[in-house]
Amino acid sequence: MVERAYFDWNATAPLRDEARSAMVTALDLAGNASSVHAEGRAARRLVEDARAQVAVLVGAEPRNVTFTSGATEANTLALTPALDLNGRKALRDRLYVSAVEHPSVRRGGRFPPEMVEQMPVDSDGVIDLHALRSAVARAEHPLVSVMLANNETGVIQPIRDIAEIVHASNGVLHVDAVQGPGRIDCAIGALDADLISLSAHKLGGPQGVGALICGGDIHIAKPVIRGGGQERGLRAGTENVAGIAGFGVACAAAAANWRSDAGRMTALRDRIEAAIRFTLPKAVIFGSNVPRLPNTTLFADPGLKAETALIAFDLNGIALSSGSACSSGKVQASTVLAAMGVEPVLARGALRISLGWNTSDAAVKNLLNALTKVSSSLLMGHETSRLNPGLAA
Ligand code: PMP
Repeated sequence: MVERAYFDWNATAPLRDEARSAMVTALDLAGNASSVHAEGRAARRLVEDARAQVAVLVGAEPRNVTFTSGATEANTLALTPALDLNGRKALRDRLYVSAVEHPSVRRGGRFPPEMVEQMPVDSDGVIDLHALRSAVARAEHPLVSVMLANNETGVIQPIRDIAEIVHASNGVLHVDAVQGPGRIDCAIGALDADLISLSAHKLGGPQGVGALICGGDIHIAKPVIRGGGQERGLRAGTENVAGIAGFGVACAAAAANWRSDAGRMTALRDRIEAAIRFTLPKAVIFGSNVPRLPNTTLFADPGLKAETALIAFDLNGIALSSGSACSSGKVQASTVLAAMGVEPVLARGALRISLGWNTSDAAVKNLLNALTKVSSSLLMGHETSRLNPGLAA
């Protein structure tokens, strides 16, 4: 049997052991976190401990952390005209998002489509700061949403510069920081962001949990989900105690280890990129001229088709991705690469390798062996139908 090696951490990371243990313990509790009896209080304690752990990861106050079902929901909660500033209404009249945002941001959350404007990025995928500056100057009360790091390319946005531009125009800045934790610094103060979204499953917690975090003065005035008043009225519904407990513990692990993990991942990533450059001299590594996450490589070779290569890697035991994971299982053209002005023929070949804290040297060796095999087979002009039986053998 082919040994498996997982290189799709940006789609979802494996569950950390400590998160699994915390979840199993939580699953054995009977209480509803809103109940006043001892069982309820025990569940509440887990939720509040996790809230503190999430807060530490991003340097926020625990009371400013709102748990959600994931970053998609956190983004939707954040992207609303109805914001409060120090308890007073601070309605937003326009939303600006970068052209490379996750679809949950690009769709504009709770803003009507006519109030949403996309900001261009350059050929490296970095937001055009001049365009942003003149756009926010046109609005009276702008809300701007720019991701910390791109899920496809790993390109890191200049969030502090963006914050300066946004705040100089009376604006509020939301940052989708989903791909940051465990890889780069995500302190909300250092980023100078007003709101940030996180997702548990990208940092070693479970799928289906996330959080929206407010930096201080800015708060969400209207919930997305109304009901029983949980999460200070911002997100109704009985808390997913086990999921939240796993999220909290995963945040603590990410906060404790990200610096050393980032160093290790950078070394492995650089080895992988050197091998790509050697094996595929015509390959383009996207965003390689600008700051990127230490764990992500998105590359394309004019002679490789992503769909075919993906299957070939999979048959060789390697899980990677074509640009972005897609909900339908269909490989779609990358809007991120299109926004960067990449030719569609090249973009169609884009493959993403993303690694994590427990990616081993042996796994990288397997990847590089597969790279040699897959590229020599596919670049020789073999048709998929002739190639697959050989690869499966
Ligand atoms: N933003 C980014 C940058 C992401 O990569 C993802 C996950 N693909 C999301 C938001 C959505 O997160 P979730 O799966 O928790 O809804």
